[in-house]
Amino acid sequence: MSSNAPRIGMLGGTFDPIHHGHLRSAVEARETLGLDRLHMIPAPKPPLRGEPQVSAEQRLALLKLGIADTPGLHADDRELRRAGPSYSIDTLIELREEYGQQARLVMIIGFDAFLRLPQWHRAQELFAHAHLAVMARPGYATPWPDELTELVGAREVEQADSLMHRPSGGVMMLTLPSQMAISATYIRQRLGEGKSTRYLLPKAVEEAIRAEGFYRHFASRGE
Ligand code: ATP
Repeated sequence: MSSNAPRIGMLGGTFDPIHHGHLRSAVEARETLGLDRLHMIPAPKPPLRGEPQVSAEQRLALLKLGIADTPGLHADDRELRRAGPSYSIDTLIELREEYGQQARLVMIIGFDAFLRLPQWHRAQELFAHAHLAVMARPGYATPWPDELTELVGAREVEQADSLMHRPSGGVMMLTLPSQMAISATYIRQRLGEGKSTRYLLPKAVEEAIRAEGFYRHFASRGE
């Protein structure tokens, strides 16, 4: 199989808002996996969580500000243009069609999202279209639930090179050098309490949030 096949990543999320945990992880995951391009894709209304307070278009605008000119990262609005619920399986199928059968497609998720993978729509089918790379996240060192172990089966590989031998179907646990204990929930909470969020997210994103008055009324969604 051609080693010149494009290496494409997908990092979906609510990005409510985008922060340095997402961005530094994206840069390091891209480097570790040798990705040509990493699509960062906001979900309009994620299937497994409550309605975000800031609209999808506004979250996309913040994502674009956050990425700015970072090489290889791309703010991708495809899920916002889609009617109905946004499922990762549909996004992977679209990316596969765009980049071709030989492309190495990698879906990147944090360990917290990985723990919920068995509940995802058509979870087993994801592996027919992409590899899965799971980023360690501070505060989430829980053992895998049985159904997750079953879902992953014998797919796990240790090295990025082993993933890149084929277009899809592998799973790799990534321990990226700069793990950051930053979450969007924490940022929304601090903004709601009028506290500083400096250095948690890019300055341009923070300024836009303040100028627009986003997240001033944080309400816990009990997540
Ligand atoms: P929230 O606190 O609102 O649940 P979040 O900060 O977890 O949000 P999401 O938009 O849900 O952000 O995350 C998108 C993806 O990025 C998920 O796969 C998530 O696990 C991962 N992720 C988020 N923050 C980090 C972080 N600090 N380090 C590594 N991965 C992260």
